[in-house]
Amino acid sequence: MRHHFLSIIAIVLIFAAAVYIWNRFFNCGHFQESGTNWTAAKAGSGYIVSINNHAELVSALEDFVKTNKITAGNITGIGAVNRAVLRFFDPKTKKYVDKTFEGQMEITNLTGNISTMDGKEYLHLHITLGNSKYQGIAGHLLSADINGAGEFYIQSFPRTHIKRTYNPEVGLNFYDFNK
Ligand code: FE
Repeated sequence: MRHHFLSIIAIVLIFAAAVYIWNRFFNCGHFQESGTNWTAAKAGSGYIVSINNHAELVSALEDFVKTNKITAGNITGIGAVNRAVLRFFDPKTKKYVDKTFEGQMEITNLTGNISTMDGKEYLHLHITLGNSKYQGIAGHLLSADINGAGEFYIQSFPRTHIKRTYNPEVGLNFYDFNK
C-alpha cells in the first residue's frame, strides 16, 4: 500500500517537473489570435500586432482593440502605406481639415492612445510618413492603406477605463477622469 502511494507521488512530481520544463524552456508562450485584417501575439503587458497587407489600418486597429476589449492603452508602430488621409485641427474653426496623400510612404512613426467615448473604443492616432524624396508628412491619422508591412505594439492597461467628453469651447474630445 505504502509502495503504491510513493509511486503515485513520484508520478505526480515527474509530471509537474515535465510541465515546468516545457513551459520554461520549450514553449515560447505566444498566445496567437487573429481578426479582421490582423494577427497578434501576446507579449509583455500588451500585444505585438501585424496588420495585413492592403488592409485599411485604422479600422483594423479598431477591430483589434474592440476584440480584446481594451479600454485604455498605447499604440506605437511602423510600416508602409500607399494612401493616407491626415487631419489637421484648426482651433479657430474648431474643425478638422482632411487631406489625402497618395503614393508609397513609410510609416516612420505612429503613436497613439486608446480610451473610450460613449461606450465605444476611441483611438487617437498621430502619424509621421516619409515619401520617396525622404520628406516627412505628418498629422492626425484618419485612415491609411497598408502597402507592405504594418507592425505595431499595443500596450493594454487592464481594469483601467479612460473616458472622453467633448469640450465645446475647444472643439476636442478631452480625457475626462471624473467619468
Ligand atoms: Fe490628434
